[in-house]
Amino acid sequence: MLTDSQKQRYLRNTILPEIGEDGQEKLLRSRVLVIGAGGLGSPVLLYLAAAGVGNIGVIDDDVVEISNLQRQVIHNSQNLNQKKVESAREKITALNPDVNLTIYPQRATRESLRDLVTNYDFILDATDNFPTRFIINEICHEQKKPLIFAAVKGFLGQISVFKSYEKSNPCYACFNPNIVDENFSLPLSEKGILGSVAGTIGALQATTTIKEILGIGSDLVGKILIFDFLKNEFRKVNLKKNSACKVCLD
Ligand SMILES: [Zn+2]
Repeated sequence: MLTDSQKQRYLRNTILPEIGEDGQEKLLRSRVLVIGAGGLGSPVLLYLAAAGVGNIGVIDDDVVEISNLQRQVIHNSQNLNQKKVESAREKITALNPDVNLTIYPQRATRESLRDLVTNYDFILDATDNFPTRFIINEICHEQKKPLIFAAVKGFLGQISVFKSYEKSNPCYACFNPNIVDENFSLPLSEKGILGSVAGTIGALQATTTIKEILGIGSDLVGKILIFDFLKNEFRKVNLKKNSACKVCLD
């Protein structure tokens, strides 16, 4: 049952017929792990917390640097040199005391993620590098957890949901089979990203997560949405299981 203050706080959620008070209770009970508290993680954390997603974990071992503030809007100038997860906790606690936020100030490695993922129902990839994305994909497949994936670069964004443990759904490695570390080998000049692009895709990742928790609308399993904000183009592409995939063909 929602308390009186929760009824007020979430009124604009609960008057949506797709959510209602039952849906809000479901959000409050849900357990979501956000991997990364940067450009995508910032809007994701703020919108999930504001919506009343009740149990959120966030893992990131970075500290806030001045060059982050152009896009990582959960942090501000007073958080410089502070751990990103601690800076995020300040804002989330102030935004919504209903949220039980657990912070993990550690690197997202195979070992750390294996232990953490098991405690959550939805896993959000908000990282910025290929090796970690592939590790997250493998662990979500192993542990049968829905993976809500997003990525941004320049004026481009992508978002998808992977449930490769079900039926003939593809995994992230089916879609991106070349395990090469493109991102780390890129010179800094090619790692540009407009903050509002990360914000838009992060907000979409939060919306997609809320829809997955509630089981409403059409899903993005086996599909990827691709945005080009410079050209004002976006498209939805079907993804197929790759019969040579080393991750999801057991
Ligand atoms: Zn696969």
